[in-house]
Amino acid sequence: MDTSYRKALLHGRCPACREGAIFKYPLSQVSRFSAMHAQCPVCGAGFEPEPGFYFGSMFITYAFNVAVVVVIGVLFYYFWELPEWTFLVTVIILALGTMPFSFRMSRILWLYWFGGLHYRGPHRES
Ligand SMILES: [Zn+2]
Repeated sequence: MDTSYRKALLHGRCPACREGAIFKYPLSQVSRFSAMHAQCPVCGAGFEPEPGFYFGSMFITYAFNVAVVVVIGVLFYYFWELPEWTFLVTVIILALGTMPFSFRMSRILWLYWFGGLHYRGPHRES
């Protein structure tokens, strides 16, 4: 199994073994996008170091949504001559539509950056 940092992060794998999934269901099951494993199903590393750990990941989601607003704002201002309300509707639709993705990526990044889990190599049964 390819265990590169970038690939494990993008695929939502455990930071400690880079094999176990952080989330229970694939992103295609949108209705259950937020269900996380409490521990890595492969190596047993805990995915919630303390209660409320993922509160800070909201800042990453916020930054992502600000980026969406800025990009759409620039496109509307310089390239499309549409009424202002279409900008607002577009931003709301994009923010809601990308929420499962931004929710997951912000939690994954938060866990990788601040979760205190370090790569221990491929998991071996002992
Ligand atoms: Zn693991």
